[in-house]
Amino acid sequence: MSVRLDGKVALVTGGGRGIGRAIAGELAAAGARVAVVGRDRERAEAAAAEIGGGARGFACDVADGAQVDATVTAIESALGPIDILVNNAGVTKDNVLVRLADADWDAVVDANLKGAFHTMRAVARGMMKRRTGRVVNVSSIVGLVGNRGQANYAASKAGLLGLTKSIAKELASRRVLVNAVAPGYIETDMTAALTPEARSTLAAQIPLGRLGTPADIAPLVLFLVSEGASYITGQVFVVDGGMVM
Ligand code: NDP
Repeated sequence: MSVRLDGKVALVTGGGRGIGRAIAGELAAAGARVAVVGRDRERAEAAAAEIGGGARGFACDVADGAQVDATVTAIESALGPIDILVNNAGVTKDNVLVRLADADWDAVVDANLKGAFHTMRAVARGMMKRRTGRVVNVSSIVGLVGNRGQANYAASKAGLLGLTKSIAKELASRRVLVNAVAPGYIETDMTAALTPEARSTLAAQIPLGRLGTPADIAPLVLFLVSEGASYITGQVFVVDGGMVM
């Protein structure tokens, strides 16, 4: 199945590196004009230049609702109305419960959960009016099963699933579809600090025997924003080599 997205505009948060970079590249390769959004302007602009196909980079902290509104306005005047939103931006600030500071709770929930609320709110009116739109939220298997030392992250990613399902119900009548992808352990900057021992312990728990790569996630996102997925909304798709069944 070859998917074409010619004429579509896609906003990918955290598109400058890791999983988001792979998603942005996949959407652009299918013909979409991609807005790469991240806090680091240079990184976003460099990724957009590499991706090509009219991609542009924008600096924005998704935790800040006013910045998100201004960025969506800037993207729409540069590239046109947003058809596809991928909420991929995310951070971790791990600690066990008794040592988890308020600031680390807030930073993670604000970026991972409130950020997606901000971007969805900013694009929803336009999508509803045009009776078309696709949103893919990047959650995590940690949001499904929890993880020691990641209460803030797990709560943000579980919250993202509730947000996905609620907005899917709200927007379905306007043909705006909202789904979530829950990756397992993926090789990016986020998991770079894992020791070789931790990495092999993890790999031993994964039926497919290895950690994933961003290229394992991007094709599913491409499918979810394609015509072939037009009867799918409010769902969570796990991509983890079989770790959680
Ligand atoms: P990386 O750390 O490689 O990249 C994170 C991206 O998010 C960066 O592009 C970063 O850009 C952006 N970002 C972070 N905070 C903000 C913010 N407040 N505003 C705008 N952009 C922000 O992570 P991954 O690629 O590994 O992760 C991508 C997503 O996938 C995350 O949501 C993560 O939770 C999720 N995930 C990752 C897994 C993994 O094993 N790697 C597993 C399951 C889920 P910048 O620094 O320029 O702001």
